[in-house]
Amino acid sequence: MMTLADNYTAVQERIHQAATRAGRDPAGITLVAVTKTWPAAVVATAYAAGMRHFGENRAGELAQKREAITAQLGPDAAITWHAIGTLQSRKAKMVADYGDIFHALDRLKIARKLAQHLAENGRHLPVFLEVNVSGEASKSGFDCTRWETNREQMAALRQAFETVNDLPGLAAVGLMTMAPWDVAPQIIRAVFRRTWQLAGRLQTDLALAAPLQLSMGMTDDFEIAIEEGATHVRVGRALFGERP
Ligand SMILES: *Cc1c(COP(=O)(O)O)cnc(C)c1O
Repeated sequence: MMTLADNYTAVQERIHQAATRAGRDPAGITLVAVTKTWPAAVVATAYAAGMRHFGENRAGELAQKREAITAQLGPDAAITWHAIGTLQSRKAKMVADYGDIFHALDRLKIARKLAQHLAENGRHLPVFLEVNVSGEASKSGFDCTRWETNREQMAALRQAFETVNDLPGLAAVGLMTMAPWDVAPQIIRAVFRRTWQLAGRLQTDLALAAPLQLSMGMTDDFEIAIEEGATHVRVGRALFGERP
């Protein structure tokens, strides 16, 4: 039987190999263990196995699990809590209070809500802007489906990035994307590659000093994502098995 610790070792090894294939330093890749739907006890076991970055897609679950784990392990456990899911504005306060980094900023209304709450609680929240480059109607995120040729899309993304960086408490640190479901690996690869290229373009256009980070890749595609430049992979099932 594979234990959680075994799965963790196996995923780390796959990350290492994908990075090596791409000529990248594996240390530049953060594995976010996605614990959504799993109880806090599973997070505690993952912590004992060495994991320190946890991802939750629902604000309420993030708040509740962070409280439980902090009560169990104390405030100095050095965990980073990643809010990875689409956020509704009425839940923004929870992410402002309990998230250490937010991966799915898909509209400026949410950024303004977060900034309001961050002004109240005095916290700082790095965010990824979610981009939709695949054109799947079901995907949220800034429309970047034709960013290479569509000046308006590119201008809107630049504007969003700058607006977020001007808001107190928020810092735009990179781009996040989701690959389309049920498509060939080369299509997934193209989506990740175009997202990496988009980040490069944004970096140049805005003359950003720090390199942009890229949150992309899940259980079924994290190796492709790493080969195409991901700095954060969000992995659930490969670590914890099928969700309850
Ligand atoms: C659930 C989820 C993941 C992890 O999915 P797996 O396929 O279990 O690796 C990653 N990102 C987001 C936004 C998710 O909601």
